[in-house]
Amino acid sequence: MSTQGDGTRAVRAGLPEPQQYEPTLPGPVFAAHFHLSGEPTGPYTYGRDGNPTWTRLEQAIGELEAPGEDVETTVFASGMAAISAVLFSQARSGDAVVLPDDGYQALPLLREQLEAYGVEVRTAPTGGDAQLAVLEGAKLLWLETPSNPGLDVCDVRRLVEAAHAGGTLVAVDNTLATPLGQRPLELGADFSVASDTKGMTGHGDVLLGHVTCRNPELTAGVRRWRKIAGAIPGPMEAWLAHRSLATLELRIERQCANALVLAEVLAKHQAVSGLRYPGLPTDPSYANAVRQMRRFGSVVSFVLADRETAERFLAALRLVEDATSFGGVRSTAERRGRWGGDSVPEGFIRFSVGAENPADLVADVEQALAAATAGS
Ligand SMILES: *Cc1c(COP(=O)(O)O)cnc(C)c1O
Repeated sequence: MSTQGDGTRAVRAGLPEPQQYEPTLPGPVFAAHFHLSGEPTGPYTYGRDGNPTWTRLEQAIGELEAPGEDVETTVFASGMAAISAVLFSQARSGDAVVLPDDGYQALPLLREQLEAYGVEVRTAPTGGDAQLAVLEGAKLLWLETPSNPGLDVCDVRRLVEAAHAGGTLVAVDNTLATPLGQRPLELGADFSVASDTKGMTGHGDVLLGHVTCRNPELTAGVRRWRKIAGAIPGPMEAWLAHRSLATLELRIERQCANALVLAEVLAKHQAVSGLRYPGLPTDPSYANAVRQMRRFGSVVSFVLADRETAERFLAALRLVEDATSFGGVRSTAERRGRWGGDSVPEGFIRFSVGAENPADLVADVEQALAAATAGS
C-alpha cells in the first residue's frame, strides 16, 4: 500500500470494497439519526456522533496522511473547528501552550480565548525554530509550516525532539503543504491538522477541516470535542471533499510546478522585492523545506513598492482573481495588508497559484506588473 504513488493513492483513497450494482464512491448519507434498536452502540446512532460519509472521508485522509499506517482522522466543519478541537481538548487551566506569532490570522483570537480559560500562551516566530526558546514545561507546541502568509519553514523533527523530551505534545497545521507536500506524523508530530478548505479540496466551494493522530487517546479527546462543540461537517460537504481528493495529486503537482515557474519569473523582475517561495533554492526556507517536504506548495509571496502599486497590479490581472484563501485550481491573489493583523508591508501580495497553463499565467502576471509600474 505505502509503496504506491501519490496519484494512485489519491484516486483510490477511502473507497469501499467494490459491491455489485453499488457506485464506486457511495453518495452522501443524509441522516440526523439512524435505525437503532436495543442498546445504543455501533458506529451510527445519532448524526452529530458519526456518519458513513464522514467515515469514508476520514479513511481517505488517513491513507494520505500516513500511508499504510494505523491512524485515525476526525473531520470538522472548518479548519478553525479542527484547530480549536486540538487546543481546547488538550489545554487545561494552568497549562502553557506555545503558538507561532506569524501563523494564521485567527490565532490571536484563539490566544484570547485560551487565556480567558486560564491557559498561558507563549508565542515566537516560525523562522529559525524560535519556538524552541519558549518550550519549557509547555503542554502543547503548535507549529504552522510553511507559515501563512510569511512562508517561513521550521525544522519539524528538531522541534518535535525537543518538545517530546520535555513531555510536550506537538501539533502541525499542514494546510499549506497538504499531506502530499509534507506528512507531519512521519516527522514525529502528534497531531496533523489542516483546513481542507484550501488545497485539499481545491475548488473554493467547501469549508472543511481535519485532525489526524496515531494515538487513540488523543483522537478520543478530539472526537469528544467535536461532539460537544457540534462543529460537524454536512454530509454533502464531506462527500464533495472526498470526490475532490481523487484529483489531489494532479492539482498539487501542477500548482506546485506553476508556483516554481512563477517564483523564478518574479525573482528576476525589478518591481518585485521580498519574494518568498520555499521551493526556490535561494529562499531562506529552502534548506529546511527540502529536508521535510516532498512538494513546496502553491503559494508565492512578494512585495510591490506600495499599496497603490499592489492595487494596480491586482486590478490589471485578468486570469487571477482578487480573493482571499489559497490552494484552489483558479489562481487568486490579494494584498494581505487589507485585513490588518498580519505584520506585512502595504505592498505585500500573497499569490495562490492555480492549475492554469504556466505560459498563460506568466504572461498575465508580466502584463499586470508592467501596467502597475508604468510611468514609475
Ligand atoms: C484557512 C486556514 C485556517 C482556517 O481554516 P478555515 O477552513 O477557514 O476555518 C487555518 N490555518 C491555516 C494555515 C489556514 O490557511
